[in-house]
Amino acid sequence: AVMVGRRVRSRRRWWSVVRALDEFEEAASTPVGRLRQVVDAMAVEMHAGLASEGGSKLKMLLTFVDNLPDGSESGIYYALHVGGTNFRILRIQLGGQRSILGHDVERKPIPQHLMTRTSEEFFDFIALSLKEFVERKGNNLQPSQVRGNDLGFTFSFPVKQTSVSSGTLIKWTKGFAIDDMVEKDVVECLQKALSRRGLDMNVAALVNDSVGTLAVGHFYDKDTVAAVVIGTGTNACYLERADAIIKCQGLLTTSGGMVINMEWGNFWSSHLPRTSYDMDLDAESQNPNDQGFEKMISGMYLGDIVRRVICKMSLASDIFGPFSSKLSTRFVLSTPLMAAMHEDDSPDLSEVAKILEETLDIYVVPLKIRKLVVKICDVVTRRAARLAAAGIVGILKKIGRDGTGGITSGRIKGVRSGKLRRTVVAVEGGLYTSYTIFREYLNEAVAEILGEEIAPYVILKVMEDGAGIGAAMLAASNSARSVDTVQ
Ligand code: BGC
Repeated sequence: AVMVGRRVRSRRRWWSVVRALDEFEEAASTPVGRLRQVVDAMAVEMHAGLASEGGSKLKMLLTFVDNLPDGSESGIYYALHVGGTNFRILRIQLGGQRSILGHDVERKPIPQHLMTRTSEEFFDFIALSLKEFVERKGNNLQPSQVRGNDLGFTFSFPVKQTSVSSGTLIKWTKGFAIDDMVEKDVVECLQKALSRRGLDMNVAALVNDSVGTLAVGHFYDKDTVAAVVIGTGTNACYLERADAIIKCQGLLTTSGGMVINMEWGNFWSSHLPRTSYDMDLDAESQNPNDQGFEKMISGMYLGDIVRRVICKMSLASDIFGPFSSKLSTRFVLSTPLMAAMHEDDSPDLSEVAKILEETLDIYVVPLKIRKLVVKICDVVTRRAARLAAAGIVGILKKIGRDGTGGITSGRIKGVRSGKLRRTVVAVEGGLYTSYTIFREYLNEAVAEILGEEIAPYVILKVMEDGAGIGAAMLAASNSARSVDTVQ
């Protein structure tokens, strides 16, 4: 009788876990109808953010990039890329005719402690790393011999730009918290650190990583009109008509357009499928009520959502064995580890077992439970990829490249009038480039939302290291000519 009682209790516990999974799946679901609502909300918020300062959670920041590289750029340029997890230094030799003759990249993790100290320590680390790199790669040039407007600086955080080569940090994201930097000019900070280290280099372009990605995309392919980054954080930018940037009347640009850094990580809409896990993650984060879209999509957070779901199940049942305190530790389960579990194709899911053991101190889980873990990863990743896809189509809608020809007609105007154009979106960031299932879900959702007539016109192209290479290209185009800015 005792045995039977135990079996019944354990079966009940299993069913309560299955129910919890079903509820989670339902709350996180992204049927195409809901995605279309997100598309519309994105386009509406874009309009609002362009209409007035503070008109939307989408900041729609000016970049002062009014001409994108076209492949004619030539010469040697350096670039620095401060991203989320990594820091990259690049040296690019451009040869005109859309060619890159030489390409050196060095990647360094940003030491954790520097993310929360002072701006001086942070920029000193960057300047020193650049100096060492220039000395090593500089073709026997002494650092003091490298002169001119030759440095592109990719700074992957929200910046209020005052010109193509200056701007102040609005706020930190992705776990950075160097408080004395907020509202400071980031180029000035870098420039001071460079001179402390005796490096005579000038920042010719300060760019967001999404803008760098767009620049490279355009360098290779003139149909590239937007770029998306999905890495530690997420963001997008696109080419907008100057006269559509209503909040900045009288904006003078040489091309009649300007790249807008959307800062879409902060997008919010009631149509987003938010779960109790998202709310907890947000409340416990360094930036509550901020970056809501980013917290559902990007690499910094996906693993942690999975951890939260497992934690709740483990508290409610013994399917994961005795409760492991690791499950209460934020960010122990990184997104790369989560992706490795999700993509485990061994018949007994041995990778899942290994990661549960090594990362979460969860031992000897039966195959059924390992499958459950894979399912949780799948729900989280599928939602993230499909929301990013809706965001992309939202941009296409705003610029009239989604084939609907405007919100009013309801007909496929583009097709009827033959106005549909090939449209390329450049994509960069580890989630898209290294996580195959994520990439497949995203591409699938873009096609599903657009429909089979329009989808073939929209091409997503990976731009590996695009953020940094693009900054070097923009340094090239901006050191060669001066750009008109706001009068
Ligand atoms: C930042 C953006 C950046 C994105 C991708 C976000 O957290 O706010 O500026 O482009 O991450 O790196």
